[in-house]
Amino acid sequence: MAKNKVKISERRKFFTDIAHHVGLGTMGVLLWAGYTQKAKSSPLTLRPPAAIDEKDFLKTCIKCGLCAEACVNRPQNFDKEGRKKPGTIKMAKAQDDVTIGTPFFKPRDVPCYMCEDIPCVPVCPTGALDINKVTNPKTKELDIRLMDMGVAIVDVHSCIAFWGLQCDACYRACPLLDEAIKLVYNRNDRTGKHAFLEPKVDPDVCTGCGLCEKACVTEKPAIFVLPRDVAQGKVGDHYVRGWDKADQQRVGNRKETEIKTKDERSKQAPADYLNKGLEY
Ligand code: SF4
Ligand code: SF4
Repeated sequence: MAKNKVKISERRKFFTDIAHHVGLGTMGVLLWAGYTQKAKSSPLTLRPPAAIDEKDFLKTCIKCGLCAEACVNRPQNFDKEGRKKPGTIKMAKAQDDVTIGTPFFKPRDVPCYMCEDIPCVPVCPTGALDINKVTNPKTKELDIRLMDMGVAIVDVHSCIAFWGLQCDACYRACPLLDEAIKLVYNRNDRTGKHAFLEPKVDPDVCTGCGLCEKACVTEKPAIFVLPRDVAQGKVGDHYVRGWDKADQQRVGNRKETEIKTKDERSKQAPADYLNKGLEY
């Protein structure tokens, strides 16, 4: 009888242990799922120069860190005493809101200095950073101006230049001086005497290096870089800039079958479909 009791309690312990471990395992899986979910990149993540499209980037980058290493070890990144400064590119850790292990940068911490030789790109062994994106097709040379990490946006409500105060910190910090950011004069109707000198970003020239964001004097930067697809809208193919030859050619080059100007609604008289559903 006592022997039997021992057997039962052993068996119970065995099953309790299993349940305990299964419970812990399940909890672990749940925690891990939550962790990986959290570790997914925010859509605001800025990638190193020449990064391919984000979806493909995540499939292609093997998280080797060679880009970050090349960035932190570039000769300009050492101070006069030979001490290494923090690099632009970081490899994401769990707390970063970026897919763990992938490279990213935060301009307010360390912007990209637009190195002419772009050392972070050619070292990438997988093409996640695509050298072709920063190679001039005619000269076959690296061209830093072809970099496209994002685009700078100005919050006109917190930019003090729009208050009428004199500030051109972002304009001066921009490596593409007077091209990517221009200062636009506007009359200050409040004082009647002064002019606003407002920074205006040209999105076709801006590379998203973030030197402006770093230089901005406001507590939270009034100019900041966002990934281009987050920052910009899309007009759609059916709008054409009549004054732009290239845009006109774009439409002219389209095949007849691609141009759809008629749909079901356009078969009806406008007064009919506009008044549809109205009772008199
Ligand atoms: S181009 Fe920018 S990201 Fe690349 S090495 Fe230079 S500072 Fe770093
Ligand atoms: S070098 Fe290329 S593959 Fe390696 S971490 Fe950087 S982007 Fe990813």
